[in-house]
Amino acid sequence: MVTRTAREIWEATLGELQIQISKPNYRTWFEKTIGLDFQGNQFIVGVPNTFVAEYLDQNQRSLIEKSLIGLTSPDIQLVFQVNGKRHTSSSGAQVGNPTTLCAQGTYPHGFNPNYVFDSYVEGSCNRLAYAAARAVAQNPGRTYNPLFIYGGVGLGKTHLLHAIGHAAQSSQVTTLCTSGEQFTNEFINSIRERKTEEFRTKYRSVGMLLIDDIHFIGGKEQTAESFFHTFNELHNANRQIVITSDRPPKSMPYLADRLRSRFEWGLMVEIQPPDFETRLAILRAKSEYRGMTLDPNVLELIGHKIQRNIRELEGSLNRVIAYARLLCTVPTIDLATKALEDLTDTQHCNISITPDLIIEAVADSFQLSPDDIKDRKRDKETVLARRVAMYIIRQETSLPVVKIGQVLGRRDAAAVTNACQKIAGDIDESSYLRRKILDIQQRIHSQIHSN
Ligand code: ADP
Ligand code: MG
Repeated sequence: MVTRTAREIWEATLGELQIQISKPNYRTWFEKTIGLDFQGNQFIVGVPNTFVAEYLDQNQRSLIEKSLIGLTSPDIQLVFQVNGKRHTSSSGAQVGNPTTLCAQGTYPHGFNPNYVFDSYVEGSCNRLAYAAARAVAQNPGRTYNPLFIYGGVGLGKTHLLHAIGHAAQSSQVTTLCTSGEQFTNEFINSIRERKTEEFRTKYRSVGMLLIDDIHFIGGKEQTAESFFHTFNELHNANRQIVITSDRPPKSMPYLADRLRSRFEWGLMVEIQPPDFETRLAILRAKSEYRGMTLDPNVLELIGHKIQRNIRELEGSLNRVIAYARLLCTVPTIDLATKALEDLTDTQHCNISITPDLIIEAVADSFQLSPDDIKDRKRDKETVLARRVAMYIIRQETSLPVVKIGQVLGRRDAAAVTNACQKIAGDIDESSYLRRKILDIQQRIHSQIHSN
């Protein structure tokens, strides 16, 4: 095997990351980073200042680790360094703690230690999912099989999945936790390396299979086929299967009907965006966990400001706490307002919402390419994505319909108006579409705000 330097490995990692995140985001957070050292299982990345270190630590760690693991080893520990000093995470998590590796997508050693039932705050938005997850954890294979949990980004699906995993582990059930993406990669590698039998055995010999973000296998026929067989064998043997997805099975158009119907065999539960009460309860729990008692007014302020995504809610709380630390003071309303103003005030941003940014976000969400959306493709999913793009551009920019038509493959103004009307009507009917559009808008705004 060729030994590569930390700098080379990091450059390769950056190459992968560049494809996965938006250009402005990449420029702001990654451009001035450098691979410094790779010894044992520690990978040290130099970053220009504490603010970047904090941001990367809190928001991009799992994504970075995912790429790094592919290029190094599964137990790699990522450490940020600022001016020759190691950065210590303000979230209290130990920097380089190997357990953080199981955050998202890649779980070589188990589960995120923070994702347990005890730290999961119940609310009306997730009550059913929570109860079902508990039932499954207590009685694997005998209650709801499969359990299919779906909902938008950052609403706690992975958290519940890992909580089930922790419980299963403590009752000695052999559990395998993977993601749709990892399953796909392993499947492809097993074919390439002629190890399909090993792959089969690995997946079909477990007591419980937890699979995160299954939507990833949509459109990948052979992988889906392989998953179908894995599913059947495990299900026939009464092994528990838990699946998460960003959408319900019926909205996975690329999935073969027979697999879709399997997903619907057990119980399907939706996690919805948290209401204000739940957001407050989560903020309270998270600040207690951090050993901080925050002014209830400060928590309310955050809870009002961040409405749709629990990951962002946590991020904003962290930001307020970090601000207070930086200024050696306690988080007051004034300070929190200032900390969050930065986050939500688009006026001072040096980039604004452009049609291309929107098309990119829509394409991402539908797992298409921006060109697919601009092209003439007429399949159902692409047409829907195109309409959604038109609708969001109309909402988020002041571009006239004629111009919107032009950027979306020279379509005429009437087509744009019709599409917008159609989506506006469908949103009322379909909670899936409503959530999807909210998610996309949120992605766009979080990109803008992080600049
Ligand atoms: P998803 O997989 O749906 O995108 P995650 O499970 O990764 O979302 O959750 C995002 C973050 O929000 C995690 O840090 C998780 O611990 C936290 N979180 C989500 N839901 C809850 C909840 N009900 N109580 C406490 N924390 C939560
Ligand atoms: Mg997740």
